[in-house]
Amino acid sequence: NGRESIPSDAIREEYENLSDLIRKYRFAYYQDDAPLVSDAEFDTLFRRLEEIEALHPELVANDSPTQEVGGEASAAFAAVEHLQRMYSLEDVFSIEELEAWLNRAEASIAKLGDGTARAAWLTELKIDGLAVNLLYRDGKLVRAATRGDGTTGEDITHNVLTIKEIPQQLSGEGYPSEVEVRGEVFIPSKAFAEFNEALIEAGKAPLANPRNAAAGSLRQKDPAETAKRPLKMFVHGIGAREGLEARSQSETYALLKEWGLPVSPYFEVLEARADVLGFISKYGEQRHKLLHEIDGIVVKVDHFATQRALGYTTRVPRWAVAYKYPPEEVHTKLLDIQVNV
Ligand code: NAD
Repeated sequence: NGRESIPSDAIREEYENLSDLIRKYRFAYYQDDAPLVSDAEFDTLFRRLEEIEALHPELVANDSPTQEVGGEASAAFAAVEHLQRMYSLEDVFSIEELEAWLNRAEASIAKLGDGTARAAWLTELKIDGLAVNLLYRDGKLVRAATRGDGTTGEDITHNVLTIKEIPQQLSGEGYPSEVEVRGEVFIPSKAFAEFNEALIEAGKAPLANPRNAAAGSLRQKDPAETAKRPLKMFVHGIGAREGLEARSQSETYALLKEWGLPVSPYFEVLEARADVLGFISKYGEQRHKLLHEIDGIVVKVDHFATQRALGYTTRVPRWAVAYKYPPEEVHTKLLDIQVNV
């Protein structure tokens, strides 16, 4: 009838193209462990997609990249269903956006109204590595998987068994009959530099960056290859649990540490907003002096009751946010180096 549709054809086209491009970049990043663009470029595209969807909610398809946790499981590995879904994180890119997020979260928490609804913020480093899900039954590590699309991951048990610091049997007493321990596998910055020097000396192409190197190392077909890589892990959450008594995430970390799991020394539980902002600037300055690479800071509601009350979207928890530090030049330069994982 000649009436111009709302949204316009141009917006529809931009939306489709952007969705396709983001899917393509996600595939290269998650399946091939070889990104085609820098994280900052990817984040800008993702932001634009979110903007279009906010203006035109009727465009949002169920399979939009904003509705899914990125990283479909590759058929090269056996598929593993997580007992409890794994999520991504909502990103903010400035202190103003973080404060707006905290205001909204605090308002939602205040509405909950009960005594447990205090806003204690578990503030920790956003480790630039690969998420893993470790399933312990009666203290024994029975399975390890990548995040995949959040529901189904890839079985990487054999590779994870080569990481010395991940216990195959929990120690101490009182560990739960079943628990999914989530954490980030990474290559420490120093070990990464040394590993690359050795590759260059041997006339081989260096690895592009620690994140993709960690991901590529864990997704090797041959565990003997994984064993050669200097991998470490820090815990950053739990999924399904049976017989685990803890009221908060920080209490859980203390227990996991007792049972022999690697817990980061860097996290803090902070009540005052000024302290959360102080944490961000402190680690912003020390960012390259830490054990591992970080791409930001994660701020989480510490109390489980409050986490449960706030819940999840299809992609992210409503009780956590990732503040991303401004991008640095060096990342785009490193991407020019041939990737070898
Ligand atoms: P994300 O990396 O922004 O956040 C979620 C993940 O953070 C979790 O799954 C977990 O693995 C990790 N994490 C690290 N420290 C954590 C902590 N302390 N607590 C909780 N989680 C922690 O989200 P994503 O969906 O995995 O990936 C999106 C990001 O990946 C983008 O922002 C982009 O920077 C990057 N990416 C880049 C490309 C590219 O082509 N360069 C493609 C896809 C994704």
